[in-house]
Amino acid sequence: MLLLVRRQKIIMRRVIIAGNWKMNKNIAESIDLANTVKRSLYDVESVEIVLCPPFTSLSDVNEVLIESNIGLGAQDVYWEKEGAFTGEVSCSMLKSAGCKYCIVGHSERRQFFGETNETVNKKAKALLANSLKPIVCVGEKLEDRKADKTFQVVKDHVVNSLAGLTKEDMANVVVAYEPVWAIGTGVNATKEQAQEVHKYIRGLLKEMFDEATADSVRIQYGGSVKPDNIKELIQQEDVDGALVGGASLKADPFAQIVRGCL
Ligand code: PEP
Repeated sequence: MLLLVRRQKIIMRRVIIAGNWKMNKNIAESIDLANTVKRSLYDVESVEIVLCPPFTSLSDVNEVLIESNIGLGAQDVYWEKEGAFTGEVSCSMLKSAGCKYCIVGHSERRQFFGETNETVNKKAKALLANSLKPIVCVGEKLEDRKADKTFQVVKDHVVNSLAGLTKEDMANVVVAYEPVWAIGTGVNATKEQAQEVHKYIRGLLKEMFDEATADSVRIQYGGSVKPDNIKELIQQEDVDGALVGGASLKADPFAQIVRGCL
C-alpha cells in the first residue's frame, strides 16, 4: 500500500531535494563539493536535485552543473530590477549566474535580517516574473508550537507569502515547511508532525487556489533531515522532498538523502 502511495506521488509530484549551503564554502570548496555531488548522483532521474551555494559561488557551481541532472538555486534575492541597493542581488543577476530556483523566507533571514511575509511575497513575485522558481519557507518557532500556535503561524506565512499569486504561478512554486525548532538542532519533526502540517498547508493551498493546484504543489520538509530519517519522512503522503542544510555540506550524506527517496 505504501509503495502504491509512493508510486502515485512520484507520478503526480516529483520529489525535490535541495541543499542549502547557507554561508559555507568558498569558491574552491563549492566547486569541489558540487563535483563530488554530481559524480555521486549522476544516475538519478526520478528525484529533482538542487544545490543552493552562496552568491559568490553560483557562477562557478553552475559551470560544474551545466548539462547535469542537478539544478542551481540561490539563497535569497532582492525584488527590484537594479539600482542603489548596496549588497543586494537581483533576479536577472541570479538568472545570468545560471539559477533556476531561489530560496525565500528562510527562517534565518526572518530571524536575523528582518524578512517578513510582505518581503517574501515581493521576492516570490519578482522571481516568478523572471522565470525563476521560488522555494518559499514557512514554519513555526518552538514557542509557537508550545503555545499551540503552529497552524496559526503556518497559515500566516503561507497566506501572506503567497498572496496575489495565480494558479499558473503556483506551478513554479515550491513550499518548504521548516519548523524553526528543527533547523540545525538535530531534532527533526517526527513523520507524523511533518505530515500533519504538510496536509494542513495543502488544505490552505486548496482554499487559496483550487484542488488541482494544491495537489500539484510540492511541499518540502526541512529541519535536521539526515540519511537515517529521510525514508520515513518521504513516505508521508504530503511530503514531496526536503530542504537540507547541514547534511548538504558533505556529498556523502546528501547523496544518501537523495537515494533514500528513490
Ligand atoms: C535549512 O537550513 O533549511 C535546514 C533545514 O537546515 P538543517 O538541515 O541543518 O536543519
